Amino acid sequence: MELEDRVSLVTGASRGMGRAIALKLSSLGCKIAVNYVPVEADNAKNVVETIISRGGEAIAIEADIRDGDAVKVMLQQVIDIWGKIDILVNNAGITKDTLLMRMSEDKWDDVLNINLRGAFLCTKFALRSMIKQGSGRIINMASIAGVIGNAGQTNYSASKGGLIAFTKSVAREVGSKNITANAIAPGFINTKMTEALPEEVKKSILAMTSLRRFGEPEEVADLVAFLASDHASYISGQVIGIDGGI
Ligand code: NAP
Repeated sequence: MELEDRVSLVTGASRGMGRAIALKLSSLGCKIAVNYVPVEADNAKNVVETIISRGGEAIAIEADIRDGDAVKVMLQQVIDIWGKIDILVNNAGITKDTLLMRMSEDKWDDVLNINLRGAFLCTKFALRSMIKQGSGRIINMASIAGVIGNAGQTNYSASKGGLIAFTKSVAREVGSKNITANAIAPGFINTKMTEALPEEVKKSILAMTSLRRFGEPEEVADLVAFLASDHASYISGQVIGIDGGI
């Protein structure tokens, strides 16, 4: 149990990669706070029940990560229950794709607010506890789109590119406190987020992918578990691709 007695908060953990990450970290002994937004209450409950049925410890915490007050209360709840936070996984994210010329201000703001502002708020409030205890892991879910860009995703790419720069700056700012910060840049992973993409888009991504298949959430969860573990103690400020060789 490599992560025995560690405490982790995973944002957007009601489904997709967040769910897989919560289950993986729990399987390694971590106590898990499953963050969700109100519409996903049943899914979040299901993640918590699954963890508990497997002998783990988990709680579901409702909080819209765009809301600073809600995030503050969420982090305080984790600390009140388990006394600390060791691992923060900023996983929650959305897409609102369209060509730049048609991009409304709302689509831009919504994506930036959840993908970037949300990670800023969660990190800010988690750091207090991490600095106090002299250790911590921050793992940010970026995207290959934040590294190489993607037509039709200027808002999403900007948010993920911003998240990468944020990660590198956090790593520099809190490295001396024994806290690491890394970003993960997945390619195409089979989740609800990618399900809705048109078939021709899926085909073209598949053609670019060396392994000729899409990734599974559990494969990303394995990478998160590695970065959260003691095996990754000297890795910080990095962007680690997991994209099947795009
Ligand atoms: P997903 O299945 O759509 O799940 C996203 C999760 O984030 C959902 O649980 C969602 O809840 C939650 N969320 C959305 N807005 C939130 C908010 N304001 N506060 C708290 N939670 C919120 O997506 P996924 O594919 O697992 O993606 C997970 C992360 O990986 C995202 O950051 C995404 O950008 C990134 N990523 C995904 C891929 C891919 O191919 N799938 C590739 C690269 C990067 P609701 O259902 O209520 O919205």
